[in-house]
Amino acid sequence: MKKDIAIRHDLSKAPKTGTWRYMHPDVDKKKCIGCETCVPFCPDAAISMVKYKDESKKKADVDYEYCKGCGVCAEICPVKAITMKKN
Ligand code: SF4
Ligand code: SF4
Repeated sequence: MKKDIAIRHDLSKAPKTGTWRYMHPDVDKKKCIGCETCVPFCPDAAISMVKYKDESKKKADVDYEYCKGCGVCAEICPVKAITMKKN
């Protein structure tokens, strides 16, 4: 088995999240250092890096249509820029 292979979801075929999601991640754009650590850890490929006009670095952005609220991103973020909040 090869190592270091990331499995990429095809979001066009992925099921959208329903109203059952209990928690959602909230990204504090001021705390986010743009390290991209959270991106490959999201099991639903729901995080992308977005460049905002007032920021020099790209910041993590969650697609809530596909995020399942698992909390992995909040756990893995090295600067605790993501907080899980109840819906
Ligand atoms: S809570 Fe889970 S599914 Fe949602 S963005 Fe974070 S890692 Fe991805
Ligand atoms: S892991 Fe944290 S600091 Fe790094 S891009 Fe994601 S939210 Fe930003």
